[in-house]
Order: sequence, then structure tokens, then C-alpha cells
Amino acid sequence: MPWMIDAEFAMDKTAVFNYKVSIMRRFFIKPSDIRDNTAEITGQDARHLATVLRITCDDTVELFDGEGHDFKARVETATARRVTLTITETSVSRRESPAHITIAQGMLKDKKMDMLIRHLTELGIVEWIPFFGARSVPKPDEKRVQQRMKRWEKIAKEALKQCGRSLAPGIKQPVSFQQLLEASDNYDEKIAFFEKATVPLTHLQEKNQEPGRKFIVLIGPEGGFSDREAAAAEDHGFGTFTLGPRILRAETASITACALVQHFFGDLG
Ligand code: SAH
Repeated sequence: MPWMIDAEFAMDKTAVFNYKVSIMRRFFIKPSDIRDNTAEITGQDARHLATVLRITCDDTVELFDGEGHDFKARVETATARRVTLTITETSVSRRESPAHITIAQGMLKDKKMDMLIRHLTELGIVEWIPFFGARSVPKPDEKRVQQRMKRWEKIAKEALKQCGRSLAPGIKQPVSFQQLLEASDNYDEKIAFFEKATVPLTHLQEKNQEPGRKFIVLIGPEGGFSDREAAAAEDHGFGTFTLGPRILRAETASITACALVQHFFGDLG
């Protein structure tokens, strides 16, 4: 009942304080920019901190290293070129899911891929492998692929900042469908979503749920999988599952699939 929450909030003055603490600014820090208990932020981030956010000496900020660590740090000096900090607290992120989810995504148009990496990072994936399926429309050359990967890494970092995670998802070089099937041998649970499938994911639920289990989740491109690809995935040990009776757009399917796996096997239940 929302009015009760409001009343409690109003009575508890410390809640206001806690609220301020919880929205402490978070910044990415390269692990190589941390030495013992000091950290240094340079480049664009330093300019942003010092001139836009006007962070000054003695302010406290939160840092994360993209490898699963959070830090509280006190600002010692702040100029537009360089911000130095003393780390006062180090902790391992508590926002990672016990389910290690890899989304193998049939290559989509640029904007959809950008949107997906942002949302899937928020949903807690640990790895992203784009692949070129028989029906993938975009076929970027090598140079373009490198540009795209840089952009996905940047978007994933922004998403980490926003959602409170500290572990950046591993963004893999796009592969062919065949390479993807070969790479899938390294995972514990292989899940493929096909619009022609009839089995719901609840059928997998019975299986053991020990933490750290590695899931690879296959989602087709806009045109879906060819029959040959669908058969090859099954031959490679993928279970095929449905996302319901409606045909979803690839990006809707991907987000839904991730949320479902997180729900049944991760921390969204
Ligand atoms: N072949 C289709 C649509 C493909 S949708 C067509 O053009 O009509 C893109 C991808 O989303 C599919 O390859 C599949 O992985 C996933 N998907 C969409 N709807 C789904 C559903 N109802 N069940 C399972 N997967 C679905």
C-alpha cells in the first residue's frame, strides 16, 4: 500500500540520508588506474567529474572496475585533467546473478544491437556473442565489426554505471553460426528459442540450479533461423523452447528470453 510506505518514509528521517548515500555517483575505473589504495581518473571522465559535476576535494564517490569490484573513494585532488582519489572501501559486487547467462544473438541492425546490449547488461548477462545466421541481413566488414564492438563495450559500461553492476559482460567477436555451435560445447545448458518450438522453459526448471551454471541462449536474427540451422542446433545438444504463441521481434525475444532464464535459474525469481 503506497500511502503506508510514504508515511514510514516521512517518519524515518534517516531514510533521507540513506537515499542520498544510495545515489552516490558511480564511475568506471580501469583496474590499471588503481594502485594500492589510490586511484586516478584522467581524460574525459576527469573533465566530466571536475567541470560538469563539480566534484571537489573530500567528496566521496563510488568506483567500479568492470571486473566485479566496487570501491568507495574520497577525492583528494580534482582538476579537469586529473582526479586523484583514496580508496576507503573495497567490495565484491553483490549484483551478479548465480546464473551465468550468455546471449548468442543473430546479428540485427545497428540500433537494435545497441539497444539490446544495454538492456541485456541491465538484465545481468555475463557474455554476448553476435552471430551471422543464414537470414541475418547486416553483413558488416571487419573494420565495421571492430567499430561496432567498441560501441557495444561503451554502451555496456554506461549500462553498468546505471544499473549498479560492476562486471562488464564479455563482448565477443561476431562468429558464423557454425563457429557458434562449436563454441557452445563450453556451456552447461544450451537453450535455443524457436518460434516453431512448443516446449516452455518451465520444463528445464527441474534441473539442478547450482550457482555458476553456464547457460547459452540462442536467439535468431529478424528473419529467424533456417530449418537447417534449427536442425544443426538440435544436433549440437540445444533444447528448443517457445516464448509463447506470438511471434516476437528478435529484440523482444532476446530480452524476454533473458528475463525468463534469470527468473527460473538466476536472481529474478
Ligand atoms: N521467422 C520469423 C521471425 C523470427 S523472430 C518471421 O520472420 O516470421 C526472431 C527470433 O526471435 C527467432 O529466431 C526466435 O529465436 C525468437 N522468437 C520470436 N518469437 C518466438 C517465439 N514465439 N518462441 C520462441 N522464439 C521466438
